[in-house]
Amino acid sequence: MKAGMGIDIGGTNVKILILSDKGKPLYSDRFKTQSERGLRDFCSRLGLKVKEALRAVKLNIKKAAAGMAGDIDSEGGILRYSPNLAGWKNAPIAELLRKETGISFSLENDANMAAWGAYVLELKKSVRDMAVITMGTGIGGGLILGGKLYRGASSTAGEIGHCVIEQNGRLCGCGNRGCLEAYCGSKAIVKRALSLIKDQDSYRKKYGIGDEKKINAAALAAAAAKGDKTAISVWEETGFYLSLGIGNILMLLNPSAIVITGGVSKGERFFMPALKKGLSLYSIKTPLKKARIKVSKNPDLGSYGAALFALEL
Ligand SMILES: [Zn+2]
Repeated sequence: MKAGMGIDIGGTNVKILILSDKGKPLYSDRFKTQSERGLRDFCSRLGLKVKEALRAVKLNIKKAAAGMAGDIDSEGGILRYSPNLAGWKNAPIAELLRKETGISFSLENDANMAAWGAYVLELKKSVRDMAVITMGTGIGGGLILGGKLYRGASSTAGEIGHCVIEQNGRLCGCGNRGCLEAYCGSKAIVKRALSLIKDQDSYRKKYGIGDEKKINAAALAAAAAKGDKTAISVWEETGFYLSLGIGNILMLLNPSAIVITGGVSKGERFFMPALKKGLSLYSIKTPLKKARIKVSKNPDLGSYGAALFALEL
């Protein structure tokens, strides 16, 4: 039996998944990234976990795909830079993992792997052209064009989070102003909500968020569900700004589908009407009519996508 190994390397957690060629999960594991312990320490811990996984499934797996947030040179298997893994610059991760495990690794941007996962699992390869937007702390994007992962000239295609939607707008983590991420990433949404909430303690009590718990995107979705006007207005604003980002993708690429994933998608009920209204304001309607816009319910599209991608290698 053929099987694919996918790894999703996040700033906090690492997920390992092995799928059969029919897409059935055969093995899964997760552990803490702990990037502060250094790159070599990380690669050796991941190497041990990979070898453990290979021993458990007893299959002859020679290739794996790993997705990471950040600027990736997928041809060289190098992480150029990641804001979540600040100390790891120009890190030859694919080569280090090959030395640790004896199998070859394809290193990709994590949103690209989520795009592949959405293409295979959510759309059953029924379309040729689609985009995925990963809405977490930051915003990533991946493109499938003509049924293939589109990486661009230096593997950074699809970075919708850093497309500018407001001139001289809010400061983004990348250093620029007015990026989509500075409006629709969970960090930005929570920051905006906190600036509008006058008394955070009574807000927590009112919406049962709990003293120790942070007000996050999920909490804002719960508050909006209970009718909180502040949360509702923040979600509507998010939907409007997202319509600018998605509108640009529609006009540029005319995809058949756009799949939204990530923690922020918990607010779907509250941002989707404003997103659709924003898109309806575009005077060129043809690309909008053709595109299905859907929210994925799979929280592990990144690792699923990587394992499915490994099956293609
Ligand atoms: Zn940016």
